[in-house]
Amino acid sequence: MRLKNKVAVVTGAASGIGKEIATLFLREGANVVIADLNQAGADSVAAELAGPDKRAIGVGMDVTSEAQVDAGMAKAVAAFGGIDVLVSNAGIQTVAPIDEFDFAKWKQLLAIHLDGAFLTTRAALREMYRSDRGGSVIYMGSVHSKEASALKAPYVTAKHGLIGLAKVVAKEGAKHGVRANIICPGFVRTPLVDKQIPEQAKALGIPEAEVVKNVMLKETVDGEFTTADDVAQAALFFASFGSNALTGQSLVVSHGWFMQ
Ligand code: NAD
Repeated sequence: MRLKNKVAVVTGAASGIGKEIATLFLREGANVVIADLNQAGADSVAAELAGPDKRAIGVGMDVTSEAQVDAGMAKAVAAFGGIDVLVSNAGIQTVAPIDEFDFAKWKQLLAIHLDGAFLTTRAALREMYRSDRGGSVIYMGSVHSKEASALKAPYVTAKHGLIGLAKVVAKEGAKHGVRANIICPGFVRTPLVDKQIPEQAKALGIPEAEVVKNVMLKETVDGEFTTADDVAQAALFFASFGSNALTGQSLVVSHGWFMQ
């Protein structure tokens, strides 16, 4: 077990990639806080995964709310005695060309991805520094942290920004034994992507099957989707790495869509 007795907070863990990370971390011995805007979903995932020793709790948390983030992190500490790993994963996608992009939607996306990463990081670092037991902060980036796609201006902007935040946390956290890294997945078949396929088909005027084949997976080496488990394995690698050598890095998990 690579995370025995560690405490991990995973945001956006009621669904998709976050849920898979929570599942794997629990299997590896961690206590896991399933934090999500969708409180009922978080509670139900926690109930599904917790097991008899109750190593998972659900916490309702809008990552754009300073008060909710601080309260949620306090609940994590009260339940499990500290925070060793933060996975800042909550996210949304909205697609439209820039000249038609609604300003409120632009701000909402940046707030969830960037304000959310900042607020959860700040709260986790305060606890990690106070307890003096080090830690690992993991951001959910994307191939869109490195590459651009049409129709995704705020998403590409936010995901590039997370690389900068990870590097600053790596520098500031080092003296406290805190590492920070970012995972950059290719397309994973989650509700976030399922919602995008018809939206992109409409915006580009092409059939949905063509969006999958010629837009989403065109540049991969094998035409395959990345899986939520692939991403969870990368998160486990960052969370359980044994020294401070691995910090400030990004890891692309995308079937070769983007090679660095
Ligand atoms: P998903 O829609 O399955 O899950 C996202 C979760 O985030 C949901 O449970 C949702 O309730 C939660 N959430 C949304 N807004 C929130 C908020 N304000 N506060 C707290 N929780 C909130 O999506 P997913 O595909 O699992 O995406 C998870 C992360 O992975 C996102 O950051 C996404 O950008 C990133 N990502 C996804 C893909 C992909 O292809 N699916 C690829 C690269 C990166």
